[in-house]
Amino acid sequence: MAKKKKTLTTAHGAPVPDDLHSMTAGPRGPGLLQDVHLVEKLAHFDRERIPERVVHAKGAGAYGYFEVTHDVTRYTRAKFLSEKGKRTEVFARFSTVGGEKGSADSERDPRGFAVKFYTEEGNYDFVGNNTPVFFIRDPLKFPDFIHTQKRHPATNLKNPDMFWDFLSLTPESVHQVTILFSDRGTPRGYRHINGYSGHTFKWYSEKGEFVWVKIHFKTDQGIENFTREEATRLAGTDPDQATRDLYEAIARGDYPSWSVSIQVMHPDEAKTYRFNPFDITKVWPHSDYPLIPVGKMVLDRNPENYFADVEQAAFSPGTLVPGFAPSPDKMLQGRIFSYPDTHRHRLGANYQLLPVNVPKANPAQTYQRDGNMRIDENGGGGPNYYPNSYEGPTPDPTVAEPLFEVTGDAGRHEYEHPNDDFVQAGELYRRVMTDTDRDHLIGNIVAHLGNAKPELQLRQTAIFYRADSDYGSRVAEGLGLDLKGVKQRAAKL
Ligand code: NDP
Repeated sequence: MAKKKKTLTTAHGAPVPDDLHSMTAGPRGPGLLQDVHLVEKLAHFDRERIPERVVHAKGAGAYGYFEVTHDVTRYTRAKFLSEKGKRTEVFARFSTVGGEKGSADSERDPRGFAVKFYTEEGNYDFVGNNTPVFFIRDPLKFPDFIHTQKRHPATNLKNPDMFWDFLSLTPESVHQVTILFSDRGTPRGYRHINGYSGHTFKWYSEKGEFVWVKIHFKTDQGIENFTREEATRLAGTDPDQATRDLYEAIARGDYPSWSVSIQVMHPDEAKTYRFNPFDITKVWPHSDYPLIPVGKMVLDRNPENYFADVEQAAFSPGTLVPGFAPSPDKMLQGRIFSYPDTHRHRLGANYQLLPVNVPKANPAQTYQRDGNMRIDENGGGGPNYYPNSYEGPTPDPTVAEPLFEVTGDAGRHEYEHPNDDFVQAGELYRRVMTDTDRDHLIGNIVAHLGNAKPELQLRQTAIFYRADSDYGSRVAEGLGLDLKGVKQRAAKL
């Protein structure tokens, strides 16, 4: 039997008689304002674009599941991690950071790695990057940092002086800069990146005990990167390479997966550990804190509509479920405010009612009411205040996180151990990178930093020298800088 054709309607559901000819006075016009279908079609089209994300604007995403492979119940009471073999639906979104919505996927940039877990205790968002560290550790610096990675206020061009001016005045960035300018800064698509929480989180168990945790998603496809030359070429020939690669792999049944593990630090160790465990410019070396396996994430379903699912997806590192809580990490505390704030600006106060964001495995029960685009029943006739005598939802004190002690003088504190800002970048350069990695790193830096003013080249190269003398010397040589001057500056850092 032939399928019945669907009738085209207006947004108010009335059948449309003609979608090819606007209503006019006679065949030559003019047009008539009473053509409600035309006016509605144009007016809605005029409003198709919502504000672009100020960071992470260009992205791709997919649905899938997370499966527990190892018992971690001694660390967390989160129900979705409560038994081996348990599966939870997820939606993942990958992105570049600094580029606009139409920018090239292959640009040198960290990659965002965000996953929404639709758990039976509400949604849990993992909001990481493909690098385990970040450029800065204080949220007060974040808007300034992002401005320098975007466009110059006068020329509207990317500006190497802005870029390197800020970084060379921010030595704690050298660890992340070293990763960014390795070939990991130009990954061969989203299937070939790891995801790191970067931040430390607090995980707590049924017994009310807690540990500090960092989370790692390791790609089962293997890390693969483009060289600088390949990435530059692709920006012109296939600017959507990573978006296409993810979509096409899932469409042909080649489902990408990631093995998820954690590092665990006990609260007493955190008090005396040689690095500040809440400083996002540092990793916890694996030799001190080995990876403990947790589970696996598989992406097996493409979104049916890009705007509905990928563009409207809204993540926040504060979207946590019982068993997880924030750590004192200052950047994390800033992001916990800033992410929902940007979603309220971009999507509206009711953004968590949108289908991709709604906590579908545990529908929300709140006293929040009204606001633009209140698309659910808005609490119906039930009470809109608490406490109440009308069987409205009540808090559950059993899910409270265990306390931890915080002391100190309120104030704007400098970082306690500035000298350790160079240690891990040096380790990465000397011990982890291969000869080829180092060659590419130096070439990538020289090609970019060489476009900045000579005094910025000197200031930044001194930071590389402070991380490792060979590293700084090779950058200096590539840029044609006087090594004596570099050493003098490095000695003052
Ligand atoms: P390990 O030798 O145990 O681990 C080295 C890590 O470096 C691996 O996780 C590897 O990731 C990653 N790596 C390899 N090449 C690069 C690159 N070009 N850019 C960034 N990361 C790379 O050492 P440690 O744990 O003692 O850490 C040493 C350094 O390794 C750190 O200072 C940090 O820069 C880097 N690193 C450490 C991580 C950690 O959590 N400890 C995580 C990621 C990087 P993979 O196995 O996936 O290839």
